Amino acid sequence: MIIVPEKEIAGLIGRQESFDAVESVFAAMAGGAAYNFPVIREAIGHADALYGFKSGFDRSSLALGLKSGGYWPGNMAKGLTNHQSTVFLFDADTGKAKAVVGGNLLTALRTAAASAVSIKHLARKDAKVLGMIGAGHQSAFQMRAAVEQRDFEKVLGWNLHPEMLVRLEETANELGLPYESVDLARLGAEADVIISITSSFDPILMEEHVSPGTHIACMGTDTKGKQEVDVALVAKAKLFTDEIAQSATIGECQHAVASGIVSEDNIIEIGAVINGNHPGRTSQSDITLFDGTGVGLQDLAVASAAVDLAIQKGVAIEVDF
Ligand code: NAD
Repeated sequence: MIIVPEKEIAGLIGRQESFDAVESVFAAMAGGAAYNFPVIREAIGHADALYGFKSGFDRSSLALGLKSGGYWPGNMAKGLTNHQSTVFLFDADTGKAKAVVGGNLLTALRTAAASAVSIKHLARKDAKVLGMIGAGHQSAFQMRAAVEQRDFEKVLGWNLHPEMLVRLEETANELGLPYESVDLARLGAEADVIISITSSFDPILMEEHVSPGTHIACMGTDTKGKQEVDVALVAKAKLFTDEIAQSATIGECQHAVASGIVSEDNIIEIGAVINGNHPGRTSQSDITLFDGTGVGLQDLAVASAAVDLAIQKGVAIEVDF
């Protein structure tokens, strides 16, 4: 069995490898070769922790396994990251344990890759202004991956907690792009692509904020009750997602589906667009919305890539198991 420790991940896998892994697995999901197993998530009644598993199998790549992970709110005080993830991979032919891979950085990379894949396939080719809603840990990853998909000339940012906006400014500067903190009305009016990546439980971006032709990647809503976008905006947009079942239950579309305004039949798996079986955006004025709920197969895809790279680069730790 192979171990790839968290500290090795940054030196092994970058944005391009993560993008390729996530784009392929979304395609495999829509083609029926890959599927996610039901998600487990529990409040364990200790250390205020939420703990669970995301798992699945991709018959095309033979990635089989799970991401075990959760949220320990007291970790920061111990000098640790509150979110903790580890990916376990198994041999699809024998069931033997194949690899244990640190999953913290991989989670950030695969989430950023998902919104970047949506921009590649759904945003207007002439998109110039990127709008960022959210300025937490994940926002910098999302921005770096997004700007590789279009010739963005400017980044606009908004966050409920303005003191965090410095992260967006610093990241835009690192990418050589002008940055401005703005209100939501300006962000919606000027941005061609909007990424939302917050822990919000109330709609932030409203229908009246958003201009025709915008692509919105909703990445923060991954749990029942969370919400970043007004139901009326969801109802107006052409809807795409990683997985329809998650979109309708824990993703951004959950509220529109629950209220009956949108049905699951209105939501398209982005893999169908990647595979050429759905046209995606059909007009410059379409508002497209990608509901990135985060699936276990994304984790298995990037962890498998990290294992291959670790073996190639000689940093995989092999143990008898
Ligand atoms: P973080 O804690 O570093 O940042 C949280 C962000 O949400 C900040 O911008 C903060 O200002 C904002 N926020 C907090 N409470 C809010 C509220 N009540 N209303 C509006 N905004 C609020 O978290 P992060 O690591 O940047 O992750 C952001 C979100 O993305 C989390 O909710 C996380 O669960 C989610 N996430 C989703 C995926 C996925 O695959 N879809 C993957 C990773 C993280």
